[in-house]
Amino acid sequence: MADAAQRKTVVLLSMGYDSLSTWHQLGRPSAVHFDVGSRYAAAEKARYERLRASFPQLLPVQDLRWLGDKEQDDAWVPLRNLLMTVQAAALGFNDIVMSAPADWAADKRLMFTLTATLAMRVAQPGGGYRVRRPFSHWTKARLIAATPTALLEEFAYSCYQGEEVPCGRCTACGRAAIAHLAAGRKPPTKPRPGLSFREFTDLRRGESNGGRLGERARMHPGALPYLPLRGWELLRAWNVYRKS
Ligand SMILES: [Zn+2]
Repeated sequence: MADAAQRKTVVLLSMGYDSLSTWHQLGRPSAVHFDVGSRYAAAEKARYERLRASFPQLLPVQDLRWLGDKEQDDAWVPLRNLLMTVQAAALGFNDIVMSAPADWAADKRLMFTLTATLAMRVAQPGGGYRVRRPFSHWTKARLIAATPTALLEEFAYSCYQGEEVPCGRCTACGRAAIAHLAAGRKPPTKPRPGLSFREFTDLRRGESNGGRLGERARMHPGALPYLPLRGWELLRAWNVYRKS
């Protein structure tokens, strides 16, 4: 197929652990970062700019700051991924890569990538567009384990509070900590000592229940409860935590 010969890949690089790892697994192709005007946008953007200084295949930051006003309490922004996907394609790419391991969000699921692909192919026949999530069957822990520590330590950012030093209390920090422990890596923020197993697994949901309720409400009908890790990974993380 002519499409395959002209495949132009771009990774949507939020600078979280999942997207940085996805970019690395694919051999570090072109990538693009969107400033979505969120609480944590400045911290992410600063890291992207530093990475871009070493990797010229990274495109300039795209300005979607007006979306910041639409951000909800649990950091959800309606239609954000659809906007970013279409804009990345319009920048001259036909292979749009999202990172979404076991994600709960409706706009990161298979139905989203299939229909976004279809919409672009209808809108521009012959463009060979494809939106995909090549590591959707991987967990966050597996992605982290397959990525050089230095790349993640130096450039990854995953905290909803947006301070330069991650807060260690929000959902994003909790998930990152558990995934690192499961991957046998030093977590970016250390869970406080003395947690019960229940409290430990609840780190994935953060201290405020806003995120928890928001995520539940947006889960795909019929989907299993949110599970960012396999059961054995969670147990491994718990065992590392208990011994530390
Ligand atoms: Zn945090």
